[in-house]
This record gives sequence, C-alpha cells and structure tokens, in this order.
Amino acid sequence: QKFLLPALSLENVSKTFYRGNESKQALRDVSFTIEQGDFFGLLGPNGAGKSTLIGVLAKTVKLNSGTIKALGFDLETQWRQFKMCLGIVPQEITFDPFLTVYDTLRLQSGYFGLRGNQKWIERLLDVLDLSDKKNSSVMSLSGGMKRRVLIAQAMVHQPPVIVLDEPTAGVDISLRHRLWEFMADLNRKGHTIILTTHYLEEAEKLCRNVALLNHGKIVTLESTQSLLKEYSKERILFSLPSEL
Ligand code: ADP
Ligand code: MG
Repeated sequence: QKFLLPALSLENVSKTFYRGNESKQALRDVSFTIEQGDFFGLLGPNGAGKSTLIGVLAKTVKLNSGTIKALGFDLETQWRQFKMCLGIVPQEITFDPFLTVYDTLRLQSGYFGLRGNQKWIERLLDVLDLSDKKNSSVMSLSGGMKRRVLIAQAMVHQPPVIVLDEPTAGVDISLRHRLWEFMADLNRKGHTIILTTHYLEEAEKLCRNVALLNHGKIVTLESTQSLLKEYSKERILFSLPSEL
C-alpha cells in the first residue's frame, strides 16, 4: 500500500563543515525518499556522513543547501510541524545529569507543548523496562538504560517516523536483541523506522530498503535483498572506493 506523502524526502542536500582553513564536505547532493511504513536502513562506514544527515534532521546541524520534508512539512519553513513528525534518537548520549528519568521525559514533553501526557510516559517506561528507574537520576544509570531513556525521550510526542542513529553500537548482545524486537514491533504498529548502522547483519535482519552512503554521497538505494546480492559484505562496509 502506497501513501501519498513520503515519510521523508531529501532533495540535493549538501553540508560542508569548516574548521579553520580546512573544510570537509560531509553530505554531497543527497537525494532520496522514504515511504511511510518502511523500515529503512542508512548504511555506510564510519565517517560516511550518517550522523551528519541525522543532525540535519534534528536541526543541530545547519544544512548548506537542499530541501527536506517530513510528511510534506518543510524543515526550514514548517519546523514546528516537521519536528512533531520525527522522533530522533541521537548517537551520542547527552542528558541533563541532574534530572530523574521521569523528569527528563516530562521536560521533553513540555518542549513539545504537550500537557497531560503522563499516561503515555508511563507506558513508554513500561515498554522500555524503565519503570523501576523512574525516580533515579539519569546519571546513575547503566549505558544500556541511558540508551533506553534516549529512545523514550524521542517518543514522548508519539512521532509517526522514528530515526535511530546507531542505537545498538556498543550495547550488549541481549539489549541489542531487545532493541531489534522493539524496532520491529514499532514498524509492525505502523511507524516508519529509519535506522543508521554499520552492522550489515542488522540491516539484513530488519531493513526492507537501504541507502548506502560513502564520503557523503549516496552510492546506491535499493531493497536490502538486492543490495546483498550485488555487493559482498566486505565491499559494502569496508572497502568502498576512497575519497573522490
Ligand atoms: P558517520 O556518522 O557516518 O560515521 P559523520 O556524519 O559523523 O559520519 O561524519 C562525516 C564526516 O564529517 C566525517 O569526516 C567527520 O569527521 C566530519 N564531521 C562531522 N561532524 C563534524 C563537525 N561538527 N565539524 C567538522 N567535521 C565534522
Ligand atoms: Mg555516526
């Protein structure tokens, strides 16, 4: 079933970082579309530009040129609506260390201007197995628990599209499997999932379609199945052609 509006569309998105007299083009004319309901993988080796792309979606990175829309809402001109469409789980874990888990989620809820959202927050805590940590300081949590709070935080406004930047990097195998199950379940419930990863097995297991990014450029965009037929695993993630 095809929906009229794509979950996400990017057109000619470019980003160059400048530091002193050095510059680094992290995204080069990136264009692609993700349909609603997809489980989409953004693949590529370290430094490919995956987190930069996610940063652009979160508006923590300012793009130089291009157009981005979420469910038809424009990132630049309709930011209020745009950000309601997306829940973004960043790669880096950063919290206000002096807040409890519950207050972290309440604060996020307030940021979205939501009132009376307690029931949903309780459900998120339950689903992510954080209920008994509700009143603990986020600082006191293990890495895996922090990762789960980050996911809950991205979901307080019940976004239709959920973007996760390497959520399973550096987490232990049991949490990795639980996160896989969690993401697959959200997708079954109708959420569009966008996942960045440099684990190919993860994409193979979860993603229907993938974009392969290298040196800021889209190398290919296709179904996970056909990508795996065309390229060897080594080729996909380790021996991509060197910088253009
Ligand atoms: P990935 O997430 O795919 O590993 P990133 O998007 O983090 O890749 O990085 C892409 C490129 O942009 C890298 O070469 C990285 O060093 C550079 N880069 C990322 N963020 C910054 C920044 N804030 N300032 C300068 N260069 C950056
Ligand atoms: Mg990254």
